[in-house]
Order: sequence, then structure tokens, then C-alpha cells
Amino acid sequence: MDKMDKVEQLEQNCWTILSPGEKEAVHKFSGGYIKFLNESKTEREAVDYIYGLALEAGFIPLEKCSQLNPGQRIVMQAKGKVCALIILGPDPLEEGVNIVASHIDSPRLDLKARPLYEEEGLAWLKTHYYGGIKKYQWLAIPLAMHGVVIKKNGEKVNIVIGENPQDPVLTIADLLPHLAKEQMEKKMSEAISGEGLNALVGSIPLDGESKNPVKGYIMQLLSERYGIEEEDFTSAELELVPAFPAREVGLDRSLIGGYGQDDRVSAYASLQAALEVTNPARTVICLFADKEEIGSVGNTGLHSLLLENLLTEILHVAGIDSYLGLRRCLAKSYALSADVNAAVDPNYPEVFEKRNCSFLSRGVVLTKYTGSRGKAESNDANPEFLGRIRKMMEESGVCWQVGELGKVDIGGGGTVAQYLAYYGMEVLDCGVAVMGMHSPFEIVSKVDLYMSFKAYRAFMQAFK
Ligand code: MN
Ligand code: MN
Repeated sequence: MDKMDKVEQLEQNCWTILSPGEKEAVHKFSGGYIKFLNESKTEREAVDYIYGLALEAGFIPLEKCSQLNPGQRIVMQAKGKVCALIILGPDPLEEGVNIVASHIDSPRLDLKARPLYEEEGLAWLKTHYYGGIKKYQWLAIPLAMHGVVIKKNGEKVNIVIGENPQDPVLTIADLLPHLAKEQMEKKMSEAISGEGLNALVGSIPLDGESKNPVKGYIMQLLSERYGIEEEDFTSAELELVPAFPAREVGLDRSLIGGYGQDDRVSAYASLQAALEVTNPARTVICLFADKEEIGSVGNTGLHSLLLENLLTEILHVAGIDSYLGLRRCLAKSYALSADVNAAVDPNYPEVFEKRNCSFLSRGVVLTKYTGSRGKAESNDANPEFLGRIRKMMEESGVCWQVGELGKVDIGGGGTVAQYLAYYGMEVLDCGVAVMGMHSPFEIVSKVDLYMSFKAYRAFMQAFK
């Protein structure tokens, strides 16, 4: 490695620099990650998983803390969809904190408020897709239903159907090619309509029911199993997600395929990093946010007062109740926006600029700016901060690369970085490269996952 030109290092396959022991660690780490993916297919399930693991590791809920001391480990959650792990550093909070922010929501098909209907003797569920999807990818695959239903009496019913191998699944059938001549001539964006994403849910009529008997039987089943009635769908959050599990990809087992890796790959890596950090150089906040896929909106997204409110509560326990204290804490903070970038796919060379896009297995990706149409809607990280992060990567033995999201003028995207930068803190996008992003089966490299974990751990433990 030391003989190598510094620029060549940015194009290095990270597997080549791992010792046998490190290779074993990479595969072992991936095993835990695959388990996390399979148990956390929604933001709520991710929060339950993270919160549970934090409690097990000795993190204390903030509401149980009456004062703050260096080294203390705290966990917070909001609305069951956002979560944060905090590890106190030695300095006053007005000196700023180190934030690693990922998001735990992923593209999916949400059920509408009145989803269930019967047509041609079959029962169906209407959906409204969440996030940026290529609609055709959601046809002809097994779908599981995850989520919550809130009954009129306030009772919350948790639903997961389709994950147990004995469970039935739902699906959206695709049109047979024999009759798809006209459809195949359409633009890909128009070939399948949003209103066409209706999931098949049953075909047996209810005995003695004359009007919509198939729908009636489905409602009877739901009532027997969950005690819910049709109107309860109006106060529910039910998500259709791919029913198959994440698994190793490649004959060499070097890759991981699965749903929701944008951005649960960063969530898992930063979670594991936070669990390992003790007595950090600055206070650490490992944040897991919601709603990134639809613009970080709503009261669980980062384009809200979420982070401010969270910090206000922490500062209050620390005895800091001033506006100035909060503003200084935010403005003097450092943040890694932990989110994925697009891996170069040689099947589509026309959209990637190979000198500046990221590749699978070349390490964690530093993305100075995202955005589209001339960096619009992007945080553009300050090079002074980037330079310090580069140094940290080198000192911590983290394999890294740079990555822009595709060619200029081809498209683009964003992350939570801009909403963090709003407060004045230094922010950089830092995450792994994903192939097939936003598809039901996204692909990452195990070694990139591991390098992102090492990067987040180094940033949390010692960056000052
Ligand atoms: Mn993302
Ligand atoms: Mn995304």
C-alpha cells in the first residue's frame, strides 16, 4: 500500500488489503447485518431493533437521566420512527457534538386509507408508493405486509404477514407478454400506472354474503386474527415490502443482496459503531431518521425541528436552557450524513463518469456534494472539513473512495446533509456504494459495509 500512488489508492479493491483475520471479521459483521435487514423492514421495526439493542448494551433512556456525565450512554426515540444513541464526551455541549445521521425508511408500497375492494371475484389492496421506485420492479414478486393499525379505542395492532415461510404473501401480478404488445411500446415510466399497483389478497367468497363476498371473507379473517374492522384501515400505517430475505450474493460471498439497504446499511454500521464507542473525544449523537425518501418532511424527518428538539432536551438535562447554548451546540457540531451512493454498474456506462463515481468494494464513499441540475438542493461540504476527514480515514486504516451520483445532467439525488448544514455545522456525506438502489433487491459489498463501520467508529470515538 505504501508504494502505491495516493490517487491509485482511490481505485483500490479493499479486499486486497485485508489480513485473513480482517476478512473473517468482515464476513462475521455481515452476518449480523443480514439479520438486522431481515428483522427491520420498516422504520418502526428498525427503531424497535436499535432501541432494544441499546438498552441491552446499557444505554439509559433520557427521561431516566437527571444529570449528564462524561462517558454516559443515553438512548432516545420519538413516535416509534426516529431514534438516537448519545454518548457523552468530556467537553460542555456548547462546544458541539459529532453526529452520524442515517435514515431508516426505504421505498415501498403503502396501503391507501380505503385499500380493500373486490373486482372480478378477487379481493385487492390499493397502494400508494412511497419514495422513488421503478414501478415494474414491484410486480411479480412476493410482498409482505408490515405495519400498525390504530383502532378507535386507541389500541395498536402490530401486523407482519409474509415473513414466516409458512405465511401467505401478497403480490401484484404482471401482464403476460402475449398481451403486452401495446404496453411494451410505451415509455417505461408510463407502462405501469400508480393506480395499477393493486395487490392480490384473496379469492374465496364468504358463505351467505351476496355483496362483495370475497372482500367480506378477507375482512372476516382480519377481524378474527387482529380484531380490526374495515374502517380501521383509515388509521393505519401498512407497508408492502419484498417478502424474501436478504442474503449473500456472488460465488465468493463478497456481496449482500436485500431490500432496504438504502439506508439501513448506514443505520447498522453506525449503530454497531456507537455500541463500541467508549469515552469519546466529543459527545456523539448517532441518529436514525425517518422520511428521507420523501424529502425528510413530516415530524419524523430531518427537515423539521426534530434535531433541535432532541438537542434541547439533552441540553436541558445538562442544565443548559439558553437559546445561545442550543445555537452554539448546533453550529459547532460536525456531522457525517450516513447515506448510500450509486455504485458504477458497467451495464449502464452511459450514466456514470468513472473517474468520479463510486464502485463496489472500493471502500466507504466520501461525497462532497449531491444534488442535481448544477448541485441544486445539495450540501457542498467545505474542503477544510473534508481534508480533516481524509486524514482521519488514513489514520484509522479506512479504505475510502470519492463518489458523485452519476454523470452531470443525467439526474441526481439528495440526502439529509443539507438539513444538517442548515444549522451551521460541518457536514459531509459518507456511506457505501449500492448497485440497484431503490430496487427490491439492492446490492452492497461486505467490505464497504465494514469500512463504513470503521469510518463511523473513528469519527465517533476520536474526531475533534
Ligand atoms: Mn438514502
Ligand atoms: Mn434513497
